[in-house]
Amino acid sequence: MSKKFIIVDAHEDIAFHLNHFKRSFINPEVPCMITLPGLKEGNVKLVFNTIFVPPKQKPKNTLKSAMEQLATYEKLYRDYEQDIYCVTKPGDIENLDDNPRIGFLTLMEGADPIEEPGELNMFFDKGVRVIGLSWNDRNRYASGNNTEDGLSEMGSELIKRMNDLGVTLDLSHLNERCFWDSIELTELTPIATHSNARALTDHPRNLKDEQLKAIAERGGVVGIVLYNPFLKTAENKPTLEDVYAHADYMIGLLGEDHVGIGSDMDGARIEDFPDELRSVADLPRIGEFFINKGYSENRARKIMSGNFLRVMRKNLRA
Ligand SMILES: [Zn+2]
Repeated sequence: MSKKFIIVDAHEDIAFHLNHFKRSFINPEVPCMITLPGLKEGNVKLVFNTIFVPPKQKPKNTLKSAMEQLATYEKLYRDYEQDIYCVTKPGDIENLDDNPRIGFLTLMEGADPIEEPGELNMFFDKGVRVIGLSWNDRNRYASGNNTEDGLSEMGSELIKRMNDLGVTLDLSHLNERCFWDSIELTELTPIATHSNARALTDHPRNLKDEQLKAIAERGGVVGIVLYNPFLKTAENKPTLEDVYAHADYMIGLLGEDHVGIGSDMDGARIEDFPDELRSVADLPRIGEFFINKGYSENRARKIMSGNFLRVMRKNLRA
């Protein structure tokens, strides 16, 4: 059954982990959740590969770190040309079922490396097609959920430039003020790549019902994130049952066209994820679990890939 679904994973910090932890993309010597063999085994056909500059590197090495991560991806595209390719246009994500390769769609998690909005073009030329304005902290554009400020003038300017180029806005990590300020300004279909339902797990990284509805009303998608603290607040370790609970809650609220998967695997330690999910190779188990819970194959397919594909085909420019 695992080959039944192709998978779109809307959040993987691949370059950060290869560079920072010196992990191997091919032969992991340390416990590692994302590898090329794992992506293949899991039938993952599209990942949103991030540029993530950790707080310790900011501000001194922000740009340097981002450029290194972009270079890491460029090297992966060269070294594994038979297996991976860079996605920039809607045509790049057509017929993924028959595509032997894995698409990488670059997501900048925190716009800190863009020193002023005019620099967006340079990153666009290097493949960036989705941007979350901030991580949990504050930058020149916006504020994450550890802070309370709203969107800055530069933040508005950056969103306008994203509209012009066709760069999708990722609303995960923004605090509530910035969420509302920025969703009003984006002209593209908005997404939240890795956030769960706050009604089930009261964590500031999760989204309240009104926020979830605002994304769905605009045709967007919210990626269920598999990191334990966002799945469950209780002491007990979350399981696939909790992944299902978040998906089912959102489907009850929004319908089945607005939920996807943004694993954030390798964004923490292996033990910070449900036991059933040890690597990206296990992602199909989520779709299988949904079907065992009574979801139709069609619904499961939408969650595992179709919904994010719909939005990105619409947002990317030919
Ligand atoms: Zn994140």
